[in-house]
Amino acid sequence: SSSTTPITATLFPGDGIGPEIAESVKKVFTTAGVPINWEEHYVSTEIDPRTQSFLTWESLESVRRNKVGLKGPMATPIGKGHRSLNLTLRKELNLYANVRPCYSLPGYKTRYDDVNLITIRENTEGEYSGLEHQVVRGVVESLKIITRQASLRVAEYAFHYAKTHGRERVSAIHKANIMQKTDGLFLKCCREVAEKYPEITYEEVVIDNCCMMLVKNPALFDVLVMPNLYGDIISDLCAGLVGGLGLTPSCNIGEDGVALAEAVHGSAPDIAGKNLANPTALLLSGVMMLRHLKMNEQAEQIHSAIINTIAEGKYRTADLGGSSTTTDFTKAICDHL
Ligand code: NAD
Repeated sequence: SSSTTPITATLFPGDGIGPEIAESVKKVFTTAGVPINWEEHYVSTEIDPRTQSFLTWESLESVRRNKVGLKGPMATPIGKGHRSLNLTLRKELNLYANVRPCYSLPGYKTRYDDVNLITIRENTEGEYSGLEHQVVRGVVESLKIITRQASLRVAEYAFHYAKTHGRERVSAIHKANIMQKTDGLFLKCCREVAEKYPEITYEEVVIDNCCMMLVKNPALFDVLVMPNLYGDIISDLCAGLVGGLGLTPSCNIGEDGVALAEAVHGSAPDIAGKNLANPTALLLSGVMMLRHLKMNEQAEQIHSAIINTIAEGKYRTADLGGSSTTTDFTKAICDHL
């Protein structure tokens, strides 16, 4: 069902191709009559002392207030004394789960045509805790942190996602045979949560075996949940299975119901400002945002228009082997609406 009360959402057009593909999203959403008012925020050219980042405190407040947002790619400026933009967002908004649906697009031929899986990555700890130091010259140490609290939180999200999205199976990806304490705790938490969802099949797959199975037959998987580093790698592997960066959406889930959707790709400086970028990944991220808002009717409508445009093959951007500009491709999607 759809809602008609307008909702305010934060929009970070971002850098490089970001503003071009954000323009495409605004155009498609307006054409589809989505009741959203965008609150646009740009990355600042100066460091905000309150966030120690090029993201201002006002930008973060906007997401906290609206609880929902869409983010274009951001190029973190090089230099000292500031935090990476994505890390700032993750930490400040407590974005604990990164969700990436990965499915074959009908009409766009890749090596596989029956991929339909979801990767859910723990986003706050593991090897990405930033705790690295030198013990003595030639010896360094990095701490991998796994907590019960963060593991239960992401497992709970994965099972809840499976249940509410008509999925049948959750696979926990791990290396607990070697990382007995850390991955062992992660698995223990997944098992605990699995018991609360008897209708969902639960399995545990060792990461190396998981990679082999994914490239042999990705249709073997449904929902995958995993610690941070494994999730980083596996989610990119899965994006590659269905056609790459220009097509893959994602959504970051935070505490207090915050959802920040974003394309997986970067700012593509090589094609920025040339009207060549493929807006599909950001558009599909926008569709995830609409589903999060329970605007399922509009989400479905926009999703079909994108799929149909790509399947028809008349208008495709260069990364998909076509010669359309961003604006022509966007117009074709609007015509399908
Ligand atoms: P990239 O994703 O920007 O580009 C890799 C290649 O893919 C390039 O050839 C690019 O042209 C192409 N590409 C990417 N998105 C495309 C699209 N929508 N349509 C058509 N082609 C597309 O990766 P990179 O070059 O490693 O990074 C560039 C900048 O982006 C860096 O500053 C990096 O820090 C930043 N980055 C940001 C994010 C993010 O904000 N989430 C993610 C990755 C990289």
